[in-house]
Amino acid sequence: MTDVPERYKRQARFHGIGAEGQNELAMKRVLLVGLGALGAAVSDQLVRAGVSLIIVDRDYVEVTNLQRQTLYTEQDAADETPKAIAASERLQAINRDVAVDAHIADVSWDWLRPLPHIDLVLDATDNVETRLLLNDFALEREIPFLFASCVGAYGMNYTVMPGQAPCLRCLMRHLPLAGQTCATAGVVAPIVQHVASRQAVETLKYLTGRHEKMERRLLIEDMWENQSQRLDVERLVDVSCPSCQQQEYPSLVPNRQQTALLCGRDVVQVRRSIDGLDGLLDQLRRAEIVVKQTPFTLEWRWRGHRMLLFKDGRVLVHGVDDAHVAVAMVDECLGR
Ligand SMILES: [Zn+2]
Repeated sequence: MTDVPERYKRQARFHGIGAEGQNELAMKRVLLVGLGALGAAVSDQLVRAGVSLIIVDRDYVEVTNLQRQTLYTEQDAADETPKAIAASERLQAINRDVAVDAHIADVSWDWLRPLPHIDLVLDATDNVETRLLLNDFALEREIPFLFASCVGAYGMNYTVMPGQAPCLRCLMRHLPLAGQTCATAGVVAPIVQHVASRQAVETLKYLTGRHEKMERRLLIEDMWENQSQRLDVERLVDVSCPSCQQQEYPSLVPNRQQTALLCGRDVVQVRRSIDGLDGLLDQLRRAEIVVKQTPFTLEWRWRGHRMLLFKDGRVLVHGVDDAHVAVAMVDECLGR
């Protein structure tokens, strides 16, 4: 055990990992998409375990997050710090020996395509479109994709392994993913920690080369009703699946969608191509709009609605659920 850093000695003593496994972890890099409750929980475990991460999230910290999103503080919510920034600062304070490469962005194929080599993709998102995008991205790169989902006290885990069906697209019509969200049905923190722990342990197994130990079944847990299921899903392969059977990857297309409704929040995201925030700050101030500036965003009010502009050109329009209304308000403020 002499060549294992002090901080990892208990983990390396575990027979499943060992000094060799610990050294493997140090050489691996994982992409984690989404830094809500799941993303916060799984990133905390993996960074402590010695795994370097690329983390990405499109949102900022709010007070309603604090009940379950364990990386964030009241100050982060008061400052409306982007989750990628708040998470990265906290994770690096936990472990400076790993790399945490943080991005404030809405994940798209355009964003994923230029990424360097990664070993595994973790799903901590809240929507089906992004999950299918990550499913296709991982299949195309021939790396595992660890799907996870929680709502209420109910959670699911499934690992899509390269070269082995079914993939998430095959399972989609069998999974209860549409309908209820954390905003409508709520969520309790323990199920998040449970599902995140399953993701973390499968990540450790894969990265240390213990592939034979990996769980191949779909795991379902209802912590409130005391029910759990482990389902063999091999027979659910869709033989016409364009992702795992035809290698066509229908989600790997340039993003033409200019707007998105954020999960259950009365917030519409509008995309603009911009050249930095400085010019727009001047423009808004010339129009006598009071603008609050942070290192990452510009924020102002327009017709009673809060508008938040990120450096990558996304504007979050609060208090609306109609994309046309949101686009019209952004046009009024920033021009077409
Ligand atoms: Zn498939």
